[in-house]
Amino acid sequence: MAAHPAPPRLLAFERRRLLVRGEGRPAIAELAADDLPLAELRHFALGIPDAPHMRVADLPAGIELPAGMALREVRGLLPVLPADQVRLAMRALHVVEWGRTHRFCGRCGEANEESAGELSRRCPRCELTTFPRISPAVIVLVRRGDRVLLGRGNHLPPGLYSTLAGFVEPGETLEEAVRREIREEVGIELAEVRYFGSQPWPFPDSLMIGFTAEHAGGELRVDPAEIAEAHWCALEELPPVPPAFSIARTLIDAWVRERGGDPARLMTWPA
Ligand SMILES: [Zn+2]
Repeated sequence: MAAHPAPPRLLAFERRRLLVRGEGRPAIAELAADDLPLAELRHFALGIPDAPHMRVADLPAGIELPAGMALREVRGLLPVLPADQVRLAMRALHVVEWGRTHRFCGRCGEANEESAGELSRRCPRCELTTFPRISPAVIVLVRRGDRVLLGRGNHLPPGLYSTLAGFVEPGETLEEAVRREIREEVGIELAEVRYFGSQPWPFPDSLMIGFTAEHAGGELRVDPAEIAEAHWCALEELPPVPPAFSIARTLIDAWVRERGGDPARLMTWPA
């Protein structure tokens, strides 16, 4: 006997702003179909196997919001949402962005259709199936004796430093990407490149894959096209570091503990 399908529940975004309930400590809003003019909105399956009725809506700018709700930038929400809601918000942001940018077949231009039972879209004309695009990027903490490499990419304002990162290229292993990025960005060679951990980063569609490595040769020589400055920093001279929900911060916190320091004493980037 076919199960009666549950009525849809919706998360909603306007660009990268997520619809939340409440003032002060926010919670992700889960809407019923009649809370929004669903027929007029684009919305996409979230693809959660245990919750096939969960969908995510792509709100047009200026839409009237249900009472008691507000749109908040996802990055600003990450530190204040509970961990399970962070996961849900990241997945939903990734899926809504994929839905917005893959409405049509990339091969023949026909309108794509949602597949049943898996998170993919299928072209009804040429049968090309498209899965959510996930762009792997490597991020690496490089040690040299009692110091760690921190840099400021050109996208960061003065005073904000992080571990270095870059996108994986076709045909490359993750370890090769780590060595190439560091060579290109700061001109040094690495030894002992080791996997550390990973983190989804849907801005718009990355998976950050973290590594640690040791300096093996060369002096810092930044590529001004990508990096404004880079330094070897000792524990007691660390600048403000990225916020707690980023893998960059997890890498730095682990190094601080390794050196006998207390991550709770680090200064964090201003919000
Ligand atoms: Zn097609």
